[in-house]
This record gives sequence, C-alpha cells and structure tokens, in this order.
Amino acid sequence: MLDADIKAQLAQYLELLEGDVLLKVSAGSDQVSQETLELVNELESMSPRIKIEKANLSRTPSFSVNRAGEDTGVVFAGIPLGHEFTSLVLALLQVSGRAPKVEQSVIDQIKNIRGNYQFETYVSLTCHNCPDIVQALNLMSVLNPGISHTMIEGSAYKEEVEGKNILAVPTIYLNGEPFGSGRMTLQEILAKMGNAPDASELNGKEPFDVLVVGGGPAGASAAIYAARKGIRTGIVAERFGGQILDTLGIENFIGTKYTEGPKLAASLEAHVSEYDIDVMNVQRAKRLEKKDLIEVELENGAVLKSKTVILSTGARWRNVNVPGEAEFKNKGVAYCPHCDGPLFAGKDVAVIGGGNSGIEAAIDLAGIVKHVTVLEFLPELKADSVLQERLHSLPNVTVVTNAQTKEITGTDKVNGITYVNRETGEEHHVELAGVFVQIGLVPNTDWLEGTLELTRGEIVVDSRGTTSIPGVFAAGDCTNSPYKQIIISMGSGATAALGAFDYLIRN
Ligand SMILES: Cc1cc2nc3c(=O)[nH]c(=O)nc-3n(C[C@H](O)[C@H](O)[C@H](O)COP(=O)(O)OP(=O)(O)OC[C@H]3O[C@@H](n4cnc5c(N)ncnc54)[C@H](O)[C@@H]3O)c2cc1C
Repeated sequence: MLDADIKAQLAQYLELLEGDVLLKVSAGSDQVSQETLELVNELESMSPRIKIEKANLSRTPSFSVNRAGEDTGVVFAGIPLGHEFTSLVLALLQVSGRAPKVEQSVIDQIKNIRGNYQFETYVSLTCHNCPDIVQALNLMSVLNPGISHTMIEGSAYKEEVEGKNILAVPTIYLNGEPFGSGRMTLQEILAKMGNAPDASELNGKEPFDVLVVGGGPAGASAAIYAARKGIRTGIVAERFGGQILDTLGIENFIGTKYTEGPKLAASLEAHVSEYDIDVMNVQRAKRLEKKDLIEVELENGAVLKSKTVILSTGARWRNVNVPGEAEFKNKGVAYCPHCDGPLFAGKDVAVIGGGNSGIEAAIDLAGIVKHVTVLEFLPELKADSVLQERLHSLPNVTVVTNAQTKEITGTDKVNGITYVNRETGEEHHVELAGVFVQIGLVPNTDWLEGTLELTRGEIVVDSRGTTSIPGVFAAGDCTNSPYKQIIISMGSGATAALGAFDYLIRN
C-alpha cells in the first residue's frame, strides 16, 4: 500500500506520537475496504502506539482516529493518501496529544464552541485545496467533543457523490446541509460558523501608521517592509495568501526551483508573524475615505484608521457572464482543473478560453476526462506555441475558435454548452458534463470605484506605488502594472511600503 518513500516519511512522523491512538475500522469485502485494511494494518505495524479495532461506522469503508477510550469524531472514508497524506499524519499526531501549530486564541475559540456540528467534506486526492479544509475540520473535531468530521474521498463514494450532484471539491456539509465549497481556512470556517471577531473588537484599535488591505504576496511584502521600519502596521485581508492558495506548482519564484502555492502562502504567513503586524484575516474592506486620517470601513461595519494605506487586493477569476454560469457553479461549472478535474473522469467537458491558463487546463483535463472542447472567442488561440503543440498532439481535444459562449445549459447540473460561431452566426450546442472557465482575472477594486483613479478597473500607480490619493499606495495585481506575477507583486509591495514610509517622514 505505502511505497518506500512514504513509509520512510511516515516512520519519522510516527516517532512524534505522544500518546496511544486507536483506529476503528469499518471494512467490507470491496476493493477500497481491502486497501483501507491494508493501510491501517501497515500503520499499526509501524508504531507500538497505534492499535486497530473492527467497528461499524456509518460509512464502509472508513476508519476513525481516536484516543483510547474517547472517540474524537475524526473519520476518513476512503484512502487518505495523495494530497491527503498530510491530513492523515496530522490527525494521528494531534489525536495522540501533540499540540497543533495554531494560535492559543484560536484553540480557545474552538474549544468554546457549543452545540453539535457534524461536518462532512467530499474531496479528491488530486485536490490541493482539500487538505486545508480536512485538516482544519479534523483539528476542530480533536479539540471539541461537539464537533465531528468525515473526509469522504469521491472516487470511493461515487454513488453518494453523484446522488448529491457534487461536481466540485472540496464540498462541505454541516449537519447534512451544504456548508461551503472551495478552499477555506480555519478562520474562514470559524467565521462562517458565526465565530468571527465582531466590529467592536476592531473599532477600538489605535490608528495605524500603515494599514495594508489585502494579504497576498503584495500585501505580505508591504507589511513586512513597513514593520521593519518600526512603524505600527496592520493587514486586513479577506483571505490571507491570495491567489497563490489556488496555485499548484510555482517554478518562477526566483531562488526557489519549485514550490506549491499553499506552501508559499504558509511561509508568507509565518514570515509576517515574525513581526509586530496586526493581522485581521477574514475581513473584507468595503469603503475607503481620506479625512484627517484615512478610514477603511469593513463589511462588518468596523472602521480602521491609518496615516497611510497600501491597497493590495489582487484579482479574482473572470466570469464569462452567460446564463447558467452562476446557476451551475459547483454543479458542473468549475474554475480549478487541478481540483475538480477528477470529478469529470470519463465525461465530456469544455474549457472556455484559449490563453495559457485555458490550454494548460485543457491538456491537464484531457488526461482524465473523455473529451475536451476548447472554446476560444478570437480567431486563434492565444496560448504559447509549445502549449498549443502539446494540445494538438492530444487525440481527445477539439478546438473551436471564433466561438462566443451563449449559455451553459442544465437542469440540476450542467448538461451542455451553447455557442455561436462568430463568423457564420450559426448556433451550436455541445452535450457535456462540465465547463471550466479560464478567461483570465479581474482586479478586486469594485469597492474603490469613484474613490481613486482606476484604468480598466486597475488602480493607477506611479513608480513609488503612489495612487491619486495622497497617503494611499497600491501594489500587485490590483494595479496597472503590466505584468501580474508573484515576484512582481512582492516587489511592488516593497516599493509601496517604502513609498508610504517616505510619505510618513515627510508629512
Ligand atoms: C491559477 C494561478 C496560477 C498562477 N501561477 C503563477 C506562477 O506560477 N508564478 C507567478 O509568478 N504567478 C502566478 N500566478 C499569479 C500570482 O498568483 C499573482 O500575480 C499574485 O498572487 C498577485 O499577488 P497580489 O498580492 O497582488 O494579489 P492576490 O494574490 O490576488 O491577493 C489579494 C489579497 O487581497 C485580499 N482582498 C481582496 N479584496 C479585498 C477586500 N475588499 N478587502 C480585504 N481584502 C481583500 C484577498 O483576499 C487576498 O488576500 C498565478 C495565478 C493563478 C490564479
């Protein structure tokens, strides 16, 4: 079951177990049950602290991870290998009593939650966004007896997944009702459960010297540069990490040959936490106004004040804005091929967009699904020629250029796409199960319209990151910088922080 590499890694982690762990296993005679038994037997053979016991859990095959004499509610239904291997290791360590790497205030917040919360998360083993959810909910189950969590691996529970029309992972249910989908952090989950810090906590804060709005690469870099000047610095971010949380491999972050987005996001968070920076995560800014100080109002009504502000709100996936897109989001309309591709195994899908991200998605999907139709609005694909060559070498891809998407059709989930041939005006309908929208990004600046100078939605900045409002600076993908990359965002975050510091000492 476990290859030599994984076994060697696991052996090291199992040395760290602090107490006994009891795995309760529910297995039948099917293939996944046999693999589940093989896995738990291997775990038992690798550590004297791990014991296994047969049980009747609500799903077969599955196994729960418990302390001796106390069920934690952490259940894995399906084999937690692939991207979920770390979730398995952390569950074993945390259940054994090893302290999680989470702030004490968050641990207390989780322990104080009252009520019964049964979470279920549907995952695929190739989904890089799923482990964060699984690990957050497992940790909550370990810390609070009223909370339980089952990870359900989609391919082991195909009927259940199809019965619930789940076409995007992670998809989370709470007490049998849909709770959320897509990547969420522990703090986002807590906020969604009604445990976010309220406005009064934030309103009382002393004014900042530099307040950074946005916690992606640009915001993290700006905050670190500001804090290193010894001035009072805060970051308010809807989702600390930004786009890199949705990025798999990163090979152009100079000095690091290869890393993965969530890993880079975690190291940004760790680096920021080395400094005296007030991080206000899971908070969305909705208004900016320059008075004596600059005020930033948040969605929850709190108003933060600062002498300078650095806007680094980045960008989000662009929608195709046709009927059916919003209606069937996560019911066949998807944006992340790495995450959701496996749910369309053996089915027909379309990719809207013939740029680099669209063609990369099509190549990726062609290895999993039955057939991919690429729809490009322009007369030719815009992707790099090396990607186009690779695409054209694949037998199960059709490229349609000059195609204007008109509608994504379906009943309870996607069943097709309608497009118009822009040359002939003819309308075509393709029957398929999934549509991946890959048409670029749009800056997160809607809330700033009419407040400062924008061009095509992007904040206009000069070479010091200065915007049209004195004391307000901007950096990264939300600005009119011609290129949108991690290293460029970090550089412009540093520039904006130095610009803000310069402004502070002159004013
Ligand atoms: C799939 C994908 C793959 C990529 N691959 C690479 C790659 O390999 N190499 C590379 O260099 N670049 C890559 N990029 C681009 C790179 O991720 C971006 O250029 C970079 O993340 C931009 O950083 P940023 O800080 O400007 O914005 P973002 O990363 O978008 O961060 C924006 C931050 O602002 C927050 N925010 C937004 N609105 C508000 C609001 N109103 N209030 C409070 N907070 C708000 C967000 O939650 C987030 O914290 C990729 C992008 C994608 C989508």
